[in-house]
Amino acid sequence: MNKPLHHIADALHGPTHAGKSTVLSELTARKALEITQSLQTTLDPTRLIELFSMEVGTLIVHQGIRYQNDDLDLDVKQGHQARHSCSYKLNIGDEPLGKLTFRRSETFSEAEIEALEQLLCSLLYPLRNALLYQDALQLAQKDPLTGICNRAALDEMLQRELSHTQRQGSNCALIIMDIDHFKTINDKYGHIIGDCALKAIANMTSLCKRDGDVLFRYGGEEFVVLMRDTELDGAYLLAERIRNYIETHPFTCSGADLNITVSIGVSSLREHDSPVSLFARADQALYSAKKNGRNQVCVAQA
Ligand code: GH3
Ligand code: MG
Ligand code: MG
Repeated sequence: MNKPLHHIADALHGPTHAGKSTVLSELTARKALEITQSLQTTLDPTRLIELFSMEVGTLIVHQGIRYQNDDLDLDVKQGHQARHSCSYKLNIGDEPLGKLTFRRSETFSEAEIEALEQLLCSLLYPLRNALLYQDALQLAQKDPLTGICNRAALDEMLQRELSHTQRQGSNCALIIMDIDHFKTINDKYGHIIGDCALKAIANMTSLCKRDGDVLFRYGGEEFVVLMRDTELDGAYLLAERIRNYIETHPFTCSGADLNITVSIGVSSLREHDSPVSLFARADQALYSAKKNGRNQVCVAQA
């Protein structure tokens, strides 16, 4: 029997307060057990919040729930906005786990809030496990030197992006960029300054691209930009903007003045392309840019 908690809470003002209160805590304790079992089924924070909201909703009716975690860039919203809210900063000891907000059109009674707080305890450890897992997944897709996405992330995203583009009948484009004569920078100044230069190039490239374009460090001194909803001319414009920006912005790393140039190959999706064929055309265009004298952009014709 799952009697909605706000009905029970209304009855709490009656003369048999102690008896009703016992029913309430029994229901809450049982629900807490159910929540613990249900939350064991996933390590996906979004699904976890969805399950928690569903389970809590059988006791404490609410129209919306929102979970925010800035550290992991998570903002999970379910249901819809309503006038009243009840928010919690979640943590285990000193470890912050984000903020959870329930929303509904009626105010939350004290008894409901008390029950909610009890139920939240069942969320904490499963949520922490899901966040740790999410963090590990994100780390596995990041290049530790520059902080941008790595090759594993590119492989995954290329596959996903191609399916999306082919389904939508839109287009996408790829840029492969390789630093010119980078070996001489390492040879002349050492690897620490070489690493510093790689970070600077990643930053400059990020500055040139749009928010929706994704930048990857593909290998040593090779970078890739993947552009959704972009035709070949648009991709060429971005490539040229990056090339020109890097050429005209010399920088200093630990006292070494560096003036770096890059060569770029560009391709856009053809009808029967696979990730490999799209990549291979941009790589071939990059090879032409190197062969033609470096510090230039070459386009693989669509
Ligand atoms: P090209 O203009 O033909 O591209 O010449 P290049 O010297 O840039 O190309 P090459 O492929 O011969 O050399 C790439 C160099 O990039 C080799 C290595 O010294 C350097 N490199 C690769 N990964 C890293 C890294 O993580 N840190 C540093 N400091 N250097 C790296
Ligand atoms: Mg190279
Ligand atoms: Mg190079």
